[in-house]
Amino acid sequence: MHGTDRPGDEKRAPRTLAVHAGARRSQYGEVAEAIHLTQGFVYPSAEAAEARFVKAGRDEFIYARYGNPTVAAFEDRMAAIEGTEDAFATASGMAAVTGALMAMLCAGDHVVSSRALFGSCLYVLEEVLARYGVEVSFVDGTDPGQWRAAIRPGTRAVFLETVSNPTLEVIDLAAVAGIAHEAGALVVVDNVFATPVFSRAVALGADVVVYSATKHVDGQGRCLGGVILGRRDFIRGTVEPFMKHTGGAMSPFNAWVLLGGLTTMELRVRAQAASAQHLAEALEGHPKLSRVLFPGLKSHPQHALSSEQMGGPGTVMALEVAGGKPAAFRFLNALRIVLLSNNLGDARSIATHPATTTHQRLPEAQKARLGISEGLVRLSVGLEDTEDLLADLTAALDAA
Ligand SMILES: *Cc1c(COP(=O)(O)O)cnc(C)c1O
Repeated sequence: MHGTDRPGDEKRAPRTLAVHAGARRSQYGEVAEAIHLTQGFVYPSAEAAEARFVKAGRDEFIYARYGNPTVAAFEDRMAAIEGTEDAFATASGMAAVTGALMAMLCAGDHVVSSRALFGSCLYVLEEVLARYGVEVSFVDGTDPGQWRAAIRPGTRAVFLETVSNPTLEVIDLAAVAGIAHEAGALVVVDNVFATPVFSRAVALGADVVVYSATKHVDGQGRCLGGVILGRRDFIRGTVEPFMKHTGGAMSPFNAWVLLGGLTTMELRVRAQAASAQHLAEALEGHPKLSRVLFPGLKSHPQHALSSEQMGGPGTVMALEVAGGKPAAFRFLNALRIVLLSNNLGDARSIATHPATTTHQRLPEAQKARLGISEGLVRLSVGLEDTEDLLADLTAALDAA
């Protein structure tokens, strides 16, 4: 139904597309995107209504659960930036993950997934899919041998976070895609930590790319959103029917907020990543930290892979405070600029203690296997002055 707005858009740089792609101007020629806060659309005639239900044109809408002009602008802009044929916007990142998987899978299907996942992704892969008769095999995502051993003829899909939350493991997407495609499996990636700015997911073999737009796309902590990106037949033929009937649609208001977010995304993400790089280098080796995990550090186990597969190191790092939970809590409680919360990709720097919050649900053994120790703190670096952040972090480490 939708797609790149103007012929030639696909040749422009992502930063240009992030400002202009997908725009739909009304007869008033407004500069900023209009918010179409309407649930439905009026048909000029009964015949037109009938025709639209049979096959709606690119800019013909029926009901906001199916599509809406402001949401369509967001979808087209995201597809243009990521370099996919099409996109479907969803109410949240988790609606996108669940929608992408549930839309294509049937009872009896087999999926292979990396084990290191965001808590809610793990719930969907481990609990929800199993309940509907989908078998999921979990592997150590950083070991291509384990992917090869687990993928079999008849594996429908593989699922991975290209950079895992919260331990920043980087998965060799090209290698996994190669193995998956040999078996005819679709490669579905949750690309939040890579961000749309540093993503090369499609070039590396991803068939379906999912983002939580709540993170770097908004980047200002204002609303939830998600998006599923891929080939047009998959988005319109498989995802859209499932999403439009099950109700995970994005609000037009949120689409409008997120369109604004996209115009500054590249500047924000590059500045945040540069600041994160500086902080990670400055903090590495600090006596109160037993580990600093950041793909941009040479000490990161997949540093070379990460530089090859992403245009930058990302904006999130993990700091392991020596002394376990008591020391980690003293550090968190002493922060004065960095906020204690659980979003990431925000303009405000945010620290999270995964073991007691986002990953609390996991059994101890699984936390240990994933490296989510009691001292581990996830730090999402924002847009504050880097030296102010460093002073805040080192003062809090003194208190730890
Ligand atoms: C936040 C996040 C999600 C979920 O996104 P919501 O917008 O909160 O639903 C999924 N995957 C990853 C990796 C995330 O960081």
